[in-house]
Amino acid sequence: MSSFVVALDVGGTSMKGGLVTRSGEILRTDRRATPRDRGPAAVIATIRSFIDDLAAAGGGTPEGVGLAVPGLVTAEAALYSANIGWRDIPATDLVPLDVPVMLGHDVRTGGLAESVLGAGRELSDFLFLPIGTGIAGATILHGEPYGGSAGWGGEIGHIPVFPEGEACACGQIGCLETYASASAVARRYSTRATSSPALPPSTGTSPVAVSVTAERVAALTASGDPLATEIWGDAVEALSLALATYTLLLDPSAIVLGGGLAEAGTLLSAPLAERLQQRLAFRQAPPLRHAALGVSAGMLGAALLGWRAAGFTDAGTTWSLDVLKSPRVA
Ligand SMILES: [Zn+2]
Repeated sequence: MSSFVVALDVGGTSMKGGLVTRSGEILRTDRRATPRDRGPAAVIATIRSFIDDLAAAGGGTPEGVGLAVPGLVTAEAALYSANIGWRDIPATDLVPLDVPVMLGHDVRTGGLAESVLGAGRELSDFLFLPIGTGIAGATILHGEPYGGSAGWGGEIGHIPVFPEGEACACGQIGCLETYASASAVARRYSTRATSSPALPPSTGTSPVAVSVTAERVAALTASGDPLATEIWGDAVEALSLALATYTLLLDPSAIVLGGGLAEAGTLLSAPLAERLQQRLAFRQAPPLRHAALGVSAGMLGAALLGWRAAGFTDAGTTWSLDVLKSPRVA
């Protein structure tokens, strides 16, 4: 068995794990639920046993371990996560093995993977923007994710785009995430459809609750449904405002869209590219690209961190995309 690292992408609902060799071959992938409702200690115990099991499956001691985790993170410690509820957890507490370890912020680690292996492979400076339950970005400068002075960098989802608008869960008003995350698109459509008098009357006296997914809103938009078109248009408008700000400040060579909402393809990217260009009167808008690594970005970025921890700072530069696109990347 060739030497390998253990890579783990710790999300709020599930963890994606993998064993990745020095040449980028993915020997194994696996997934486990994140027991967030049982508290941070249970999450840490699950991470430790998952790493143990992955290492055992590799049939040897890994060269290193890389972990992508949410919240405020340094390479050595998980400082804070509202999502998981932990504070000041040293990397060594998360790993039951005496091997080099490196931690990374979840979105920035996905951005690192897109930079080294994926859609940003030949780009120096770009924004990686996964649009899912929430919106966070990874600012890639000179090929590396930039987290700012204290690790809060990249929170583009909480840029106020409609300051007179709807309240965000973060406590501010009119954040990008309130209009353009996949869950916001679904929630705003559901709320409006439920209260809309234009809907077929219900048989009872109270409105019938409508619950849809962002995917459904996208399909309704494509078929010309007026309400879906309006909600989708709000999301595009909000994104164009935030991305115009980002572009004017940092002049990226591309914007790499990922996450669930980007699965809508040109239904999102075509009007967004047009609105973005309209907002950038005196310059060319950066091209929009689709992320290449999908839900595996975090795990693959964690593998890069694991190899970096083991001393191979050029990890990934020779890995082939064909290997990465193998069906074993779950
Ligand atoms: Zn917010």
